[in-house]
Order: sequence, then structure tokens, then C-alpha cells
Amino acid sequence: MAIRKIVEMGKDDILRKHSRKVTKFDHRLGVLLDDMADTMYEADGVGLAAPQVGVLKRAVVIDVGEGLIELVNPEILWSEGETIGAEGCLSVPGRRGTVKRPEKVRVHAQDRKGNHIEVEGEGLLAVCLCHELDHLDGVLYVDKMIEDVTDQMQEEEEGKGE
Ligand code: ZN
Repeated sequence: MAIRKIVEMGKDDILRKHSRKVTKFDHRLGVLLDDMADTMYEADGVGLAAPQVGVLKRAVVIDVGEGLIELVNPEILWSEGETIGAEGCLSVPGRRGTVKRPEKVRVHAQDRKGNHIEVEGEGLLAVCLCHELDHLDGVLYVDKMIEDVTDQMQEEEEGKGE
């Protein structure tokens, strides 16, 4: 287990690349997922995608306060509703902005052993799932941002970086 360095927007174009599907469910994948979780918790984030630590693999970790979720090769099966909320990103430090996201999503993925799983999320978890899955296709929340959230607006918000 180790803390990895988080790649920041503008400093490394790896954040703009498409991540590759994971085909080997081996010890290395487990180490990557463990390190990603450590790195996310250390940075006080609620989600982290592998490209954010410089690895172009389709893997994300999420914890919105309901326990750690590890998703390998995640895909959105369906989504419904619409909500606009403030988001941040560990790769875009010091900024937050509003983004339109679905209210509810269902995601198919694999776990670290390759077992097929499905996760359904509402509210913050739905936002987080969409945000992290976007990272796997080189998309950052700032691409979809409606407007920046100012410091004053931020004081009224309770969310964290993803
Ligand atoms: Zn992010």
C-alpha cells in the first residue's frame, strides 16, 4: 500500500487519454487498487480514477462515506433524472464548478478478481460514478462545467473533491 502522486490538469496529458480495458486480474491490479484507495483517502477525496495516478487502466475507487467501492472496466447501464451540483476534482486543485449529471445511475463493472458486479447510485454516488467514469475516457468535469463555484458559494457547499 502506498500513496501515489496525483496528476494535475495542465501538467500531464495522460488525463486526456483513453484508458485501456483491464484484462489481467492479477496481483498488480490489486496493488493499484489498494494504492488508489490510500491516495484517495489521503487527499480527502470521494473518488479517484487510475489515470489520475498516471495509469491508463479502466479502474476507479469511490467512497462517498458508505464504504469503499472498487470498479474495474465500469460501464453505465442506464441513468435517469437530472441534477446540477458542485463538483471538484483532485486533478483540478483549488477549483469547483457546477455540472449537470443524472440523478441515478446503474453501473456494470468487475471487481479485482474479475467477478461481474453491478452498482446503483443516487445523489452524490451517482455524480461520483459519472465523474470517475469520465476520467477513463479523458473527460474532466471542467469540460462539462456550467460555471465556476466561487469561494462564497463554496462555503455553503459541503462536497469534497472527487
Ligand atoms: Zn476527478
